[in-house]
Amino acid sequence: MTAPLTITQASCADDYDPNSMPVAKARAFIHQFLTPISGIARVPVRDALGRVLAEDIVSPVNVPAHRNSAMDGWTMRFADLAAGTPLTEVGASFAGKPYTGAVGPAQCVRIFTGGVVPVECDTVVMQERAQAEGKSITFTSGQKKGQNVREAGEDLKAGAAALAKGRIVKPAELGLIASLGIGEVAVARKLRVVFFSTGDELKSVGSTLAEGEIYDSNRYTLHGMLTRLGCEVIDMGVVVDDPALLERAFRDAAAIGDVVITSGGVSVGEADFVKQLLQQLGEVVFWKIAMKPGRPLAYGKIGGAHFFGLPGNPVSVMVTFYQFVRDALLTLQGVTPLPVQPLLKAVCTSPIKKAPGRTEFQRGVLYAEDGVWKVRVTGEQGSGILKSMSDANCFIMLHDHVGNVDAGATVDVQILEGVV
Ligand code: AMP
Ligand code: MG
Repeated sequence: MTAPLTITQASCADDYDPNSMPVAKARAFIHQFLTPISGIARVPVRDALGRVLAEDIVSPVNVPAHRNSAMDGWTMRFADLAAGTPLTEVGASFAGKPYTGAVGPAQCVRIFTGGVVPVECDTVVMQERAQAEGKSITFTSGQKKGQNVREAGEDLKAGAAALAKGRIVKPAELGLIASLGIGEVAVARKLRVVFFSTGDELKSVGSTLAEGEIYDSNRYTLHGMLTRLGCEVIDMGVVVDDPALLERAFRDAAAIGDVVITSGGVSVGEADFVKQLLQQLGEVVFWKIAMKPGRPLAYGKIGGAHFFGLPGNPVSVMVTFYQFVRDALLTLQGVTPLPVQPLLKAVCTSPIKKAPGRTEFQRGVLYAEDGVWKVRVTGEQGSGILKSMSDANCFIMLHDHVGNVDAGATVDVQILEGVV
């Protein structure tokens, strides 16, 4: 086995330019260093919602367990139907209450959805295709052998893998697991993510602001995004721009977290001193990403913890989180395959000014009009305007090579809902 690549080695590659890092390349760079965490918890099925399966779930039973009817109607031998004469109803099979008698020639059984199909029978005719006169039942022509019969194991055969390790448990998975009679599942332990904000100007909610100070909002958006992604969230508060305090915070965070996330302090002017500090503490690369917003970004390892140094601007924090951190956290949780972030085409109804050479993530509102998906920008797009994120339901993703966008042009759109 070859020794794993270090972050510094990877950053010495020929085409590596920290001052103009394309979005896709930064994502791929980070991805090389992500190995899923280990550790399993066994939880009751309902508590597995939103968690990641740590083991395959193998079906202990056939689903459905018995051959049963997909319709309300009558069940019979198909050969008897073909004779064209009325059949005699000899009993009924309800869901959970099977017919226990025999079914002879020219006989049929009244059956309801989910009712067990007697062994002699092979076909169900829905009641809308039948006419009953007492116990004498006539069926319309055109029936097919085997119709409306659900075979045992048709959904899942006993011994087959029902769900693979790495799947996120959503409502359908909860139901599927319950349908197998399984009451407890193994899920990956929660990823522990520690974060703090940096900046002398930041105050926490609850204190009054002096001139030039602002409330720290990044810890709130991060709390929300991380919680939605199923992480264990540890909020270390605000750390002022002081080397000794920052060093202490980085050390403490890396000691308890699988992942450390900070916001602020990685922009030009502030980066130098954080850079020096992180060079002593770990292995971290600082990038200017060819994107807007979210230009400065740092990634690395501090001890065993992954480190993401996000920009300070509130919108930049969210955009870089969506583009880089989200997939990394899912990968660390062992999620496979990664849930797709669909890129949809929509007609852009606002003209947008844009210089080629970087990827832009404009905040947009996607809406349907006359059966066509359209998107407009939310208004002011400054990277400090958090309302633009709140008003948005998508990013309008304008790729590197794209220049100005005219109203009416087709653009790519990333939907925000359900992504974190
Ligand atoms: P920085 O990246 O530290 O230079 O910060 C860029 C901008 O984002 C500055 O205007 C900061 O005041 C602002 N900012 C940084 N951190 C936060 C935060 N936690 N909450 C709100 N705004 C912030
Ligand atoms: Mg700052």
